[in-house]
Amino acid sequence: MSFEYPKHVRFSCERCALCCRDTTDRVRSILLLTIEIDRISKKTLTELDEFAEKIEGFEPYIYRMRKTENGKCVFLKGNSCSIYQIRPLICRFYPLQLKNMGNGRYVFAHTDECSGIGTGPQLKRDFFEKIFSEFIELMRRNSQAERQRKNAVTVESARASRNTITNSARN
Ligand code: SF4
Repeated sequence: MSFEYPKHVRFSCERCALCCRDTTDRVRSILLLTIEIDRISKKTLTELDEFAEKIEGFEPYIYRMRKTENGKCVFLKGNSCSIYQIRPLICRFYPLQLKNMGNGRYVFAHTDECSGIGTGPQLKRDFFEKIFSEFIELMRRNSQAERQRKNAVTVESARASRNTITNSARN
């Protein structure tokens, strides 16, 4: 696997929280992986339906973060993220995005929408290497979490169908 990255990009987060809410120009979707919904639900003791809604066609992302009526992420408190330590990959990468170009080739891009772009230190290769490794590791663990979820569903359906058969036999 290999990646390319933009040279000469400077960035420092100004904590404006623009990336955590819709703007007049942009409706934002914070997409979530299986491993992320499991982790957020467990750590915040929140039912999945309270903070995420199911989506299709964006695999491996299978949920989207819910927003408040005024378009803010439900976990945004003031200008701070209340799940910062376990925030989703998409939030950790912002204002960068990683595009899958196929054949194991990935390309980092950035958005100028973020007011932190152009400020702070230049992002060097070691920074991109670090976040790329995090991405690969998270995807590996996400595949494991997806398999566990599917197995749990299969066991649950087998149990339900066994119960149905037993109940029918009793009637
Ligand atoms: S929009 Fe940019 S500067 Fe503002 S909080 Fe998000 S990452 Fe930080």
